[in-house]
Amino acid sequence: MARTDPSANPLMERSMPDFMNDATDHGEIRDAVRKLCSRFDGEYWRALDREMAYPTEFVAELTRSGFLGVLIPEEYGGSGLGLSAAAAIMEEIQRSGCNGGACHAQMYVMGTILRHGSEEQKSHWLPQVAEGKIRLQAFGVTEPTSGTDTAALRTVARRDGDHWVIDGQKIWTSRAEHSDLMVLLARTTPMEQCAKRTDGLSVFLVDMRAALGNGLSIRPIRTMMNHATTEVFFDKLRVPAGNLIGEEGKGFRYILSGMNAERILIASECVGDAKWLIEKARNYACERTVFGRAIGANQGIQFPIARAYANMRAAELMVREALRRYEAGENPGAEANMAKMLAADASNEAANVCIQTHGGFGFAEEYDVERKFRETRLYQVAPISTNLILSFLAEHVLAMPRSY
Ligand SMILES: Cc1cc2nc3c(=O)[nH]c(=O)nc-3n(C[C@H](O)[C@H](O)[C@H](O)COP(=O)(O)OP(=O)(O)OC[C@H]3O[C@@H](n4cnc5c(N)ncnc54)[C@H](O)[C@@H]3O)c2cc1C
Repeated sequence: MARTDPSANPLMERSMPDFMNDATDHGEIRDAVRKLCSRFDGEYWRALDREMAYPTEFVAELTRSGFLGVLIPEEYGGSGLGLSAAAAIMEEIQRSGCNGGACHAQMYVMGTILRHGSEEQKSHWLPQVAEGKIRLQAFGVTEPTSGTDTAALRTVARRDGDHWVIDGQKIWTSRAEHSDLMVLLARTTPMEQCAKRTDGLSVFLVDMRAALGNGLSIRPIRTMMNHATTEVFFDKLRVPAGNLIGEEGKGFRYILSGMNAERILIASECVGDAKWLIEKARNYACERTVFGRAIGANQGIQFPIARAYANMRAAELMVREALRRYEAGENPGAEANMAKMLAADASNEAANVCIQTHGGFGFAEEYDVERKFRETRLYQVAPISTNLILSFLAEHVLAMPRSY
């Protein structure tokens, strides 16, 4: 879709400063991820988006290259790296215009098994995940009636001999159709019999290959962006007793303990998105000529881009601080939450600015801007909404009264 002649514009000839100040930690990993991503261009993602299809080849390449196994310890076939390596990978995927939403859960779901799984479970499952023989992409927590109030979930598991029998429903279980395993949270003791409402929940590893058609069914949900999300139904699904992760009744704590990693990884993706969008907006603003000059010469165009840049850099610093504390063995609950909120705000702002800078062309599929605009909007709501982060900060950091 032609709209301008860049060769007539001297701004585009100026050597572009490294204004994005791209991170250099895990440099080799970042370079390798960029190289891999360069093979999956806008055309690839647009075609999938149109069909709401899963990026099977992209995820297979990431797996083959070992990127999705970086958090798996070496003894189980992974590379045993820290969370900052996973964060660098997720940031670079988004920075390259690709979409890690298709596989990011494998990085953070892994922690539940790593931290709370038995030696038998780890040695059985993790090498297969690291090798790419099985996919660990589905995470079933949210339910239609309970929403953010996780303790109120209604899916139940009751013990029957050497099995657990599961009944209930999950919603927004992303990638369920493209995963072999699901980490599932279900109630094993009725809430009335528990000292605390968050007690009595347990985590299971569900082998979906065996379960599909035998008590497990999946229904895709069409959404504003291509996210492979679904509703999952359990009807007397039998899961071997050995698939209970950790201790019965402690599942809520286990899920909570993985939240910091999840927040930090999503925040890194948002920083990557923001960088891609800001660069795209900056380039277009320098290239597009209206009224005889580049639109980027107008402060009305410059300032929103500059502000989005400043907010992205601030969010990036918070992501780094959360990572620093996480890798030092601290509990960076506040920093992880703030990083997720600030980075999601930064990417949302950058998306808005990018589409505005592009004028009408921002709405054309071919520019990839509207697709990124839709994709990054999700992170205002999932995996935790901005309101709930603010509640967390008010209650746990500022010691204000609990609001719910
Ligand atoms: C595309 C997509 C993919 C997802 N993938 C997964 C997945 O793989 N696995 C999974 O388990 N879940 C997944 N989710 C679910 C996601 O985590 C939830 O949608 C999110 O946590 C919000 O829950 P809810 O939709 O039930 O909203 P609700 O809890 O119904 O909340 C609705 C609105 O009210 C606000 N709100 C609620 N309570 C309060 C309060 N006390 N104070 C102030 N505001 C409040 C919320 O912030 C929100 O804006 C996904 C969601 C989407 C849309």
